[in-house]
Amino acid sequence: MSGFTIKGWCPDAWRPMAAGDGLLVRVKPCFSRLSREETLQVCALSRQYGNGLIDVTRRANLQIRGVAEAGWRPLIEVLVNAGLVDPDHAIEARRNILLAPHWTVGDASHRLAVELREKLPELPDLPSKMGFVIDAGDALVLLDEPGDFRIERGESGGLILRAAGREKGVAVSEGEAVGRIIALAHWFHDSGGAAAGRMVRHDAPLPPWAQGDARPAPPAPPASRAQPGPVCAGFVYGVPFSQIEADRLAHAVTTAGATSLRLTPWRLVILEGGSAGEHPGLIADPADPLLRVEACPGAPFCPQATVATRDLARRLAPLMQESLHVSGCAKGCACSRKTALVLTGREGRFDLSRNAHAGDRADISGLHPDHIPALLETR
Ligand code: SF4
Repeated sequence: MSGFTIKGWCPDAWRPMAAGDGLLVRVKPCFSRLSREETLQVCALSRQYGNGLIDVTRRANLQIRGVAEAGWRPLIEVLVNAGLVDPDHAIEARRNILLAPHWTVGDASHRLAVELREKLPELPDLPSKMGFVIDAGDALVLLDEPGDFRIERGESGGLILRAAGREKGVAVSEGEAVGRIIALAHWFHDSGGAAAGRMVRHDAPLPPWAQGDARPAPPAPPASRAQPGPVCAGFVYGVPFSQIEADRLAHAVTTAGATSLRLTPWRLVILEGGSAGEHPGLIADPADPLLRVEACPGAPFCPQATVATRDLARRLAPLMQESLHVSGCAKGCACSRKTALVLTGREGRFDLSRNAHAGDRADISGLHPDHIPALLETR
């Protein structure tokens, strides 16, 4: 697997990353939505070429886990033939468009995403982690999600173009928005942004045409966008730890009679067009304590981890009234925000911090995992 190990890289299907359980092959569904047939095909491919586990990523993509090196080429050929991966490596790398998940066909977010997708060949080469956010509904739902180049609904009701890390953006019409976002990507490229790696770290002054004092619209209330329950298009389900067995996902799609699967960046998926109901491996109850808990794959799935994470997170979830993050190491991949409690793995034990990020200064160091449930019970 060593030929595929690229650190600091955002993997895609053409550049898979080696994890402890094999290659991760990322599938970026167009507008974060797969038809029923496409969903069932990805599930079948996960079983055939991977280890039967599928991740839902924070950019509303899917990851087929556990692919053997010998299986990568035949897998990618099927994905390209199915239209799920672009045959052009450069275009596939640019398909990092996070779209407000509750878009409807023909609304502003969808129209902009269609146009940006058509114009991907006009973009310069960018660092692989960079991405675009389109959040053009009445209230913003993606303010907390990372994305370097952003088209958002502005406070005054029109659209704005905003660079990540800047509080304000510049007003743009819908007709000019995509052209401007492409121009901003070229400015980033030409002004040496690659050395910073992300827009938020690129402190060169923006070009005058990208500077403005337009603020983004207020965010939508969290409960209206990010919890299990019925929505117009179908039913929203939680995905514990952003991972589901392919068999279970296929079973849910089939038994619900869903016509499509929509992905979100919030560990939630929407089964569209089907009936509501309970499905093994998915969370239908908005009060389920697992929704308050984040945990990365941990050991043995990630080579950086010295601790197992998800079994511990499952044991601790019922004890938690607040948010919990169990992280295999200080990198904190599963959650970039502070949580009420964070357990960070280090040398086979855990450091506990309160109201912190993974890796922050520990309040208690060197906890054995077996001792943590009792500690939380007596808080
Ligand atoms: S937080 Fe550390 S252990 Fe967990 S997935 Fe990221 S790198 Fe691996």
